[in-house]
Amino acid sequence: MPGHAAATEAEDLAAWHSALRAQFPIVAGHPGLAYLDSAATAQKPQAVLDVVQEYLTTSNANAGRGTYPWANRTTSLIEDTGRRVKTFLGDPDPDTSAVHFVSGTTEGLRLVALDWLVHELRDGDEIILPFADHEANLSPWLEAVESLARQGTRVTVREMPYQASSGDYDTDRLAGLVTSRTRFVAVTHVHHVYGGDMNVHRIRRAVGPDAVICMDAAQSVGHLPVSMKALDVDFAVFSGHKALALPGTGAVWSRGVRGAPFAPRGWGGTPNTVGIASLHAALDWLDRAGVERIERWTVELASRLTDGLRTLPPYHVVGCQLSLAKGSSVQQRHGIVTFRHRDIDSADLGFILFSHGFMVRADSLCQGRAGENRSSVRVSLHAYNSRHEVDRLLEVLTELS
Ligand code: PLP
Repeated sequence: MPGHAAATEAEDLAAWHSALRAQFPIVAGHPGLAYLDSAATAQKPQAVLDVVQEYLTTSNANAGRGTYPWANRTTSLIEDTGRRVKTFLGDPDPDTSAVHFVSGTTEGLRLVALDWLVHELRDGDEIILPFADHEANLSPWLEAVESLARQGTRVTVREMPYQASSGDYDTDRLAGLVTSRTRFVAVTHVHHVYGGDMNVHRIRRAVGPDAVICMDAAQSVGHLPVSMKALDVDFAVFSGHKALALPGTGAVWSRGVRGAPFAPRGWGGTPNTVGIASLHAALDWLDRAGVERIERWTVELASRLTDGLRTLPPYHVVGCQLSLAKGSSVQQRHGIVTFRHRDIDSADLGFILFSHGFMVRADSLCQGRAGENRSSVRVSLHAYNSRHEVDRLLEVLTELS
C-alpha cells in the first residue's frame, strides 16, 4: 500500500534523525535555540570533536618535515585525507586528480583563478562567469582577467545566462555563447540564496569537450551526493567547515586532464593539520550517516517551511516559486529558503527571530552583481535540524504575519 510505505519511510527517517541530532553537542546543549544558518557554517558532530581532541593530544606535529612518529603520522593523515576527499567526491580518475587543502571555498577559487587560470589564458580567449552566483565565484575570475589585461592579454568575459522562471542556468543560451575560444566556465552546484540545484551535469554538453569547468561546491558537499564522474567538471572547490569539519578547512579537487596540472606555486607553509584531521572525520561521519538521507531530510524540512510560508501573504519567498513547492519537478531544491516580509525589514526580522531562539542569516547575501542585492532572511538547514524547529519557526512567522 503506497500510503503505508510512505508513512513507514517518514517514520524511519524521523527515527534516524533523532539518533543523529543527539550526536551534535552544541545542538543538544541548547534546546531553546535553533541554529538555522548552516549555509554560513555547520555545527560539528561528537565524532569530529573526538578526532580533533585525539589528534591534538596524541600526535600533533608538523607535516612532511620530521623523522619522528608524530610527524610521520601527520604526513600520512594529510595524504589519507586527500584520498578520502577523492572517494567522497566519486572521483573517476584518482590517479591523475589532485586534492589541495585550503581554508575554504573563497581561498580555493582565488587560487584556481590567480595561480592557475592566469597561466592558461591567451590573448583572444573567452571565459563564461556566473554573475548571479556567490561573489566568491565571480570576483577572483574578474581579478585574473584584469591582471592579464595589465600585461596586454585581452580576455573576453561573457555572462552565464540564467532562466528567468527558475533561476537555473539556461543551457540552450549557454551553448550559443560558446566559441572555439571558450576556455573556461565557472559554475555553482547549489545556489546559496535560492537553494536550487544548478544542474551542473548539463553544462559539459553545452560547453563541449574542451572548456575547463570549475564548480563551486560550497553548498553541496555534505548536503547531497556529489559525483565528479556524473558532473564531468575539472575543478570542484568546497569548504570543509560547511561540511561539519573545523573552520579554516576546505579543498580544491582538480581532475588534471585539461590544461596544466593544478599545482599552486610558492611556499605553502604549515598546513592546517588538525583541520585536515577534522575533515577526514567529517567525511567519514557523513558517509556513515548517509548523505542521501541527509539530502532527503533537509529537502523535506525546506519544503515544509516553503509550503508554510506560501500560505502567509506578507512573506515573499525569493527564487522560483514552483521549484520551491514540495514535489515540484521544475528544479531540484535543497535546504535553503530565503524570504522577505512585506512590512518588516529583514534585519529587524532577524533580531525578532533571535528573540524567539532562531539563528538565521538576515542580510544581503554576498551575491554577484547580477543577483539579489536587497537584504532578506535566509534559513539554511543541515542534518541536525528538526521538523519541530521548522514548525516552531512557522508559528512565530505566522504570529508576525
Ligand atoms: N560559494 C558559495 C556558494 C557560498 O555559499 C560560500 C559561503 O557562503 C562561499 C562560496 C564562500 O565560502 P567560504 O566563506 O567558506 O570561503
